[in-house]
Amino acid sequence: MQGKLGLNDSIANLKGVGEKRAYLLNKIGVYTFKDLIEYFPRNYEDRTKVNYVSQFESGTPCLFIAKLCEKIKVKRIRRNLVIYTAVAIDDENTRLKLTWFNQTYIKTRLVVGNKYLFFGKPVYELGIYTVDSPEIYNLSDLSRIQGIYPIYSLTKGLSQNYIFKLLKTNYNESIIFKDIYDEKFKKKYELCDINYAFRNVHFPDNYKSINIARNRLIFDELFLLQVALMSVKNQSVRTEECNLYKDTSIDEFLNLLPFKLTNAQMKVVNEIISDLSDSKKIMNRLIQGDVGCGKTMVAALAMYIALKNGYQAAIMVPTTILANQHFVELKPYFEQLGYNVEILTSSTTKKKKDIIIKDLKEGKINILVGTHSIIEDNIEFKNLSLVVTDEQHRFGVKQRMKLSNKSDAVDTLVMTATPIPRTLAIMLYGDLDISIIDELPPGRKPVKTFVVNDNFETRVNEFIKKNVNSGRQVYIVCPLVEESEESDLKSVEKIYENYKNNVFKDFNVECIHGKMKQSKKDEIMKDFKDNKINILVSTTVIEVGISVSNATIMVIENADRFGLAALHQLRGRVGRGSNESYCILKSNNRSVNSRERLKIMEKSNDGFEVAQKDLELRGPGDFFGIRQSGLPEFKIANLLKDIKILKKAQEAASILIKDDPKLQKEENKYIKMIIYKKYSEQLKNIGT
Ligand code: ADP
Ligand code: MG
Repeated sequence: MQGKLGLNDSIANLKGVGEKRAYLLNKIGVYTFKDLIEYFPRNYEDRTKVNYVSQFESGTPCLFIAKLCEKIKVKRIRRNLVIYTAVAIDDENTRLKLTWFNQTYIKTRLVVGNKYLFFGKPVYELGIYTVDSPEIYNLSDLSRIQGIYPIYSLTKGLSQNYIFKLLKTNYNESIIFKDIYDEKFKKKYELCDINYAFRNVHFPDNYKSINIARNRLIFDELFLLQVALMSVKNQSVRTEECNLYKDTSIDEFLNLLPFKLTNAQMKVVNEIISDLSDSKKIMNRLIQGDVGCGKTMVAALAMYIALKNGYQAAIMVPTTILANQHFVELKPYFEQLGYNVEILTSSTTKKKKDIIIKDLKEGKINILVGTHSIIEDNIEFKNLSLVVTDEQHRFGVKQRMKLSNKSDAVDTLVMTATPIPRTLAIMLYGDLDISIIDELPPGRKPVKTFVVNDNFETRVNEFIKKNVNSGRQVYIVCPLVEESEESDLKSVEKIYENYKNNVFKDFNVECIHGKMKQSKKDEIMKDFKDNKINILVSTTVIEVGISVSNATIMVIENADRFGLAALHQLRGRVGRGSNESYCILKSNNRSVNSRERLKIMEKSNDGFEVAQKDLELRGPGDFFGIRQSGLPEFKIANLLKDIKILKKAQEAASILIKDDPKLQKEENKYIKMIIYKKYSEQLKNIGT
C-alpha cells in the first residue's frame, strides 16, 4: 500500500469524517479506512438507461423523462401532512402520477409544460403508475447522472450519498492492495485482480464488471474461511496407518433388534461399512437425519463393527440426560453380545470415575458413553478406533478434534438432527462425507401442529387436561430470554407456579431448567420417563434427544422467540409412540414475518424443508446452530446464493491445504497472515 492514507488508519482521519460521523461509521463496523473499502454495497441502482413508462417494472426504481401536463395539486391531509400530486406524460404519451410529501419547493421547482428527468420507484396501481418522491433533474443533467450506483446498508444518520462520496474522495488510484494470489491461481479459478475488484464493487462501469468484482471478493471470503477451518482440522490429520476392520458382518446385532432397520438406515450403515473396509481411508462422516429417524442404532452398528475387530469405541453427547438415555438403550444389546458399556458424565462419582479410567486403559471397557467428561486429558483408551459425536452442532471443531486425538487414527462419525442445508454443511464440515437418513421408522404419525394466540388459552388448557386425564404426558417449554439468565429463570418459574398452583393444580406438574443441579435434573427426567410427572415445564434443556413415548403434547410458550429449526427439534420430542401427538405454538407476535414463519411449522413436518425455509427467511447468520458454530458473518458472500463459488473456493482451499497443511511454505505466508488477522477471533470461538 502506498499513498498518504494508511489502510489501517482510523476512519476519523479521512476527509469528511467528524466525530459524530466516525461514531456512526463505527456503528456499522467501519473503524479503519480498509473497513470502509470492505464495506461492500448490498445492491446497485441502475441509472444507466432512460425508460419509457411501457418499460417500467412495478417496484423497480429507474430513470425516466416526463413532461408535466397539469398544475400540481396540493392536498392537506392533516396538520403535518401535505401531498403534492403531479400528472405527467412520457414521450410515448403514457400518463403517470408523481407524488411528494411535505416538499413545498415542488410547486416552484416544476413548471407545467416542461420536461424533466426523474429517478424513482414506479408502482402500478389502479391502472396507472405512481412514483412517490422521485428525484428531479433537468434534462441537461442526464450525462452526469447516468451510471450504476451502489447501495449500502445504512444506519440512522448516514446516507447513501455520504458513504458514496466518502469513498469517492478518499479511495483513489494511489491506493494499491497486494494480491494474495499469483497469476496462475487467478487464471485457474477465473479471478480478477484485487484492485479491480475493490474499485468495481464500489464504482462499477457496468453490470459485467460488478459480477467480475463480486465473484472475486466472494471467492476470497469463502476461500480464506475454508483455508482457516481446514487448517484447524488439519492439526488432527496424521499419517499413521488406518484401522483395519476385516469383519464387517452385522447380522448378529441386527437379529437382536425388535425392529427392522429402515431402508435409509441400511443405506447409511452400508456407507459406513464401505468407509471402514477401505484400508486406506479414515472415516470422517456426518450423518444427518430428522429427529426420531434412528441415528443411534446406526451409530451402534458402527461401534459394533469396531468392537468386533478388537477396538474400542466412544460416543460423546452434549448432556448427561442424553448420555443416560443412550447408555440405557445400548447397553442391553452389547451385553448380550459379550461387550462392556460404561458411562462417564459430570455426575459420575470420583470413585467410579477412577475405576473407569483404569478399565478403559486396560481395554476392559469396550464402549464409553459420555459427555464432555470423556475428552478430559486423563481419559486414555487402550485402542480407540471409532468416535461418535451425537447432536454435533453442540460441539465445536476443537472438541471433536480433541476426542479424535485420543488415538492415532480415529474414524469419526458425527450425527446431527439439525437438518443443515447442504450448502452450509459443506462450509461447516469441510471435508466430511455426508450421509442422510431421509426416512422415519414405519408407523410414526406426523405431529399435528397449531399456532395459537392468547385467545386460545382456555381451549389449550382444557385440551391438555383432557389428554392428561387419559394418561398422556405434556411438555411445556419456555424460551430463554436473552437479557439475563436470572430473568429467564423468573419467567420459567412464574409460568410454572401458575400452572402448578392454578391451571393444572389437580395434576403433578414439575419444572426443570438449566440452572438446576445435574442430579436434580436427572431425577426429574427419570420421574417423567416413569410417568410420575404429568406435565413438565422446562427451558430448552430438554431440546436434545430425549425420548418419552407417552408424552404426546408439546406446548411452546412465546414460540416466535425460537428459530424454526429449534422448534422442529422440540416438536420431535413428541410423536414417538403410537398415539396421536400435538405441538401447540403459542405466540402473540402479530408481525407478518413472525406469523409466516410459524405457519411453516403447521404446514410441514419435514425438518429439511423447515430448515431451508428458515434459512431463506432469516439468513444464515441467524440460522440455528450456525451462530454457535462460531462462523463469522459474511461481508459479501451469501451461502444461499453463492454455492458455485463456494464449491470452487472449497476445491481451491483443499488443494492448498493438501500441499501445505500448516501453511508453512513461503508462498503461502501472506495468506496465513491474512487468515490469522481476519479469523483469529473465530478460530478461538470454534473451540468453545
Ligand atoms: P434420533 O435419530 O432422533 O437420534 P433415535 O435414535 O433416538 O432417533 O431413535 C428414536 C426411536 O426409534 C428409538 O426408540 C429407537 O429405538 C427407535 N428406532 C430406531 N430405528 C428404528 C426402526 N428401524 N424401526 C423402529 N424403531 C426404530
Ligand atoms: Mg438422537
